[in-house]
Amino acid sequence: TAGDAPPLRVEHLRKTFGGITAVDDTSFEIEQGKITGLIGPNGAGKSTTFNLITGFLSPDSGSVELYGQDITGMAPYNIADRGMVRTFQIARELSEMTVLENMMLAPKHQQGEALWRSVAPGARAQVQKDEQAVLERAWEMLDFFDIDHLAEEYAGNLSGGQRKLLEMARALMTDPDILLLDEPFAGVNPSLEEKLLEHIRELREQGYTFLLVEHDIDLIMENCSRVLVLHQGKLLAEGPPEEIKNDERVIEAYLGG
Ligand code: ADP
Ligand code: MG
Repeated sequence: TAGDAPPLRVEHLRKTFGGITAVDDTSFEIEQGKITGLIGPNGAGKSTTFNLITGFLSPDSGSVELYGQDITGMAPYNIADRGMVRTFQIARELSEMTVLENMMLAPKHQQGEALWRSVAPGARAQVQKDEQAVLERAWEMLDFFDIDHLAEEYAGNLSGGQRKLLEMARALMTDPDILLLDEPFAGVNPSLEEKLLEHIRELREQGYTFLLVEHDIDLIMENCSRVLVLHQGKLLAEGPPEEIKNDERVIEAYLGG
């Protein structure tokens, strides 16, 4: 975490799919220890931007920097290793595993195989120590999200909201600095949404940095320190919520509808 460099800086990012320019010369930064919102109408390029930042897609051009270090084109697990992770929906296979097993697998998915690779006998003690640390971290996170009582439950049996809590708990297994959330409240009822938000705010208080992609404008405006507005792959506007709410271009392109 070097000097004054922002947690995340994106410069002139561009991605095309055939004839479609999904992300078109987009540049922005996010602030340390804050929740930055990324909004825009359907097809604006939010998910593509998200995938470019987290290494799930490579940009045609442009760069992505994490605390001043170039991570453009790096594999997702390398980016996770450097402290930026995203949430994942729980895949079908993982539904047949318990909540705790899902938690134990998370670092493997995020960081690659190093921790879990079978090793020479001499190194076994270290691996066991690492596994003990992973287990402790898993319980700590399950406790934080109030789902420790569900540790032995199959992930497939969780309610929609409990699943979202597990998705966030898993993402935090490697203790990242930056957490990227792509529509984390999709399909969540209002009371669970509030609970999820409380957890996110508490994590922000602890110093985590968030980039939040969300289509619920009110939710973004209430919870983000700054808002980025994408429109047709371009950054249409950025600023504090009060400004964005009253920005004529934003109203016309998005809010007016
Ligand atoms: P958003 O998340 O803001 O709704 P997306 O980033 O998913 O927008 O999509 C931006 C544009 O890129 C859309 O026109 C979409 O159809 C297109 N697009 C996204 N992913 C692909 C892909 N894998 N192949 C082709 N077109 C894609
Ligand atoms: Mg999307």
